[in-house]
Amino acid sequence: MRFYMPNIAGGTVLELTGDAHTHAAYALRIRIGDYLTVFDGKGKDYSCKVKDIKKDRTVLDVLSVTENVGEPKISVTLYLSVIKQDRFELAVQKATELGIAGITPVNSAYTQKNISLNYDRLRKIAVSACEQCGRSRIPVIENAIDFDTLLKHVSETYTIFPWEREMHGDLKSAIDKTQTEAAVFIGPEGGITEEEKNKLTQAGAKCVTLGARILRAETAAISALSVLYYEMGEWNL
Ligand code: SAH
Repeated sequence: MRFYMPNIAGGTVLELTGDAHTHAAYALRIRIGDYLTVFDGKGKDYSCKVKDIKKDRTVLDVLSVTENVGEPKISVTLYLSVIKQDRFELAVQKATELGIAGITPVNSAYTQKNISLNYDRLRKIAVSACEQCGRSRIPVIENAIDFDTLLKHVSETYTIFPWEREMHGDLKSAIDKTQTEAAVFIGPEGGITEEEKNKLTQAGAKCVTLGARILRAETAAISALSVLYYEMGEWNL
């Protein structure tokens, strides 16, 4: 069982309060003497033993503090075009499990203009995914940026761009294994215009295909990230 607690001050005792306490004491029904892990969102894991369960808090003895091993060596940012909330949530959950460092929504020419993302929910989903998957760093979910801001990031970072109309660019060969930082940009359900595609490649993005079938944006994101992490050696333990 893993619980997120930001701003851990140190010391040998920790207290779960609020939602974390309710979840531990009432939903999961933990008992005095149980073991659990608290993480700080910045890379540290605190192995704890439950000392006491009060009405409003769960008191924990800290047994050891270790550097979390669940972080990938490569830091990847996902630039995902704004898509419907439930699909965006799916992408946040799965990208977090895969090891994403940050997720930034993007508005481009064919993005649906009537969608307003619920960022609080997206950030909560990232925290729960970290609790579940054993990571200790919470991915940063930024507010949406426009296409020109995306181009600026692309010109500064090694970026892979799966384009639905690309015929030749091979993802495996586009992956540069010497990089420690990378970005992946996924277009909206309406696709990316030829002009946007040209601007992206001029800014240095590697345009690749994900095969002959058109994937939904969230499927494209999850697939491209999986291949990237695999090729970068993240799945060799
Ligand atoms: N409406 C578009 C599809 C957009 S899919 C059409 O019908 O052509 C949303 C995004 O997922 C795309 O912009 C692209 O980034 C990615 N994507 C989906 N399928 C892909 C594929 N086969 N190859 C590369 N990228 C793909």
